[in-house]
Amino acid sequence: MRRLRNVKIVATLGPASSDYKMIRALSDAGADVFRLNMSHGEHDEIRERHEIIRQVEKDTKRPIAILADLQGPKLRVGKFINDEEMLKEGQSFRLDLDEAEGDATRVCLPHKEIFDALEPGASLLVNDGKIRLQVKECGRNFADCTVIFGGMISNRKGVNVPDVVLPLAALSDKDRRDLEFVCQLGIDWLALSFVQRPADVEEARKLADGRAAILSKIEKPAAVKAFAKILQVSDGIMVARGDLGVELPVQNVPPIQKRLVRACRAAAKPVIVATQMLESMIDSPVPTRAEVSDVAAAIYEGADAVMLSAESAAGSYPVEAVTTMNNVAIEVESDPTYREVIDASRAGNKETIADAIVSAAREIAETTDIKAICCFSESGTTALLTARERPHVPIIALTSRRGTSRRLALSWGMHCVMTGEVDRFKMAVVNAARVARTAGFAEESDHIVVIAGIPFNQPGSTNILRVAPCEERLIFSAGPE
Ligand code: PGA
Ligand code: MN
Repeated sequence: MRRLRNVKIVATLGPASSDYKMIRALSDAGADVFRLNMSHGEHDEIRERHEIIRQVEKDTKRPIAILADLQGPKLRVGKFINDEEMLKEGQSFRLDLDEAEGDATRVCLPHKEIFDALEPGASLLVNDGKIRLQVKECGRNFADCTVIFGGMISNRKGVNVPDVVLPLAALSDKDRRDLEFVCQLGIDWLALSFVQRPADVEEARKLADGRAAILSKIEKPAAVKAFAKILQVSDGIMVARGDLGVELPVQNVPPIQKRLVRACRAAAKPVIVATQMLESMIDSPVPTRAEVSDVAAAIYEGADAVMLSAESAAGSYPVEAVTTMNNVAIEVESDPTYREVIDASRAGNKETIADAIVSAAREIAETTDIKAICCFSESGTTALLTARERPHVPIIALTSRRGTSRRLALSWGMHCVMTGEVDRFKMAVVNAARVARTAGFAEESDHIVVIAGIPFNQPGSTNILRVAPCEERLIFSAGPE
């Protein structure tokens, strides 16, 4: 079954989406990637969801990427006796190191470092900045605050302290435990929260040791500054607008988003635009016009993926949220203006044979009536370069490596299919044509472009392109072996 759009949809799983029926429904509605948020959920729950995703993948016969998102040095409050409390403007509220569940007067903030660094007058922002607290008085294990902007505070909500530099390591002990746990479960992408420097990424890559691709979440001013270098050492990027818009003035986020999306495409690395995309759909079956416009804008910019957080993890309408993204994507991508923008913003160095071949494949597809670009890619590099071209025909990525097929599920336009190992080019073409026909991309009478590297199974050897008929008899009777 093929998708009718190029942009991918990432759905975060949580209490609202933890059983087979719901995860399957999200996949059917259009979710290509599932995010396991390590900030919430115990290991047992994570393991259960992981197992269900793999079952859905088996049943739908479509590679699914699993993205495990490490909490990182994010500050979060503890739990509340009643799960949530209403904070009113002007009231006092205490943050402390007492592990007891919180109430309307206090809650635990289980980060010792922060109490050492806080000073009276500092602002604490809770729940993506919706609640603002100002420190009145503080000591080594408490901070008494005044509520400046009130609101609902609930279990494990995030806290940002933009005014204070906190001496926090890139990976906490919890992150290290979580990293090892998810790598052993088997994940495709590991997302790092609050990355500040390239060394943070390199540290995680060492620990992951090839078991997952590394995605850096850009949500700190320091990461925006060091972005070029962080991109170089990362396999993918998330524009994490939630924390970014708290750590920086919120109006700085849109231009940063545009710049990051472009840079990622030029580097042939997938980029996710995340957070509050359909926020109102947590409680409403229909989105606001502004939300629809925001999702559309990310797609027009050429993002690889758009993401749902609480909308799919904890909201009342997870399937409707995925369906909304799917519908917006289909509409945007059929707009001639979308094509114009995408074609006009093609960028990136062209140096290698692979660069030349993917560019030729795209031009052939533009010039003649080609139904798909079929790309044999073991490491996934050639497929990523093809995605960078943003061709107007579907990309079918064929690989014998399961990990590659799953990782590529995050990338723009990629229809991933597992093949057996092929050793002759003619067999590769036969395989590609079969996939194109059975997945509904092409008919017997159509043509496809096939690109591959000969000899096979040597990453980085892309060197051959054939315009091939889809009819098997014709493939066998002509063309190179
Ligand atoms: P989070 O990351 O949902 O883990 O906070 C995304 C963001 O900050 O936008
Ligand atoms: Mn964040």
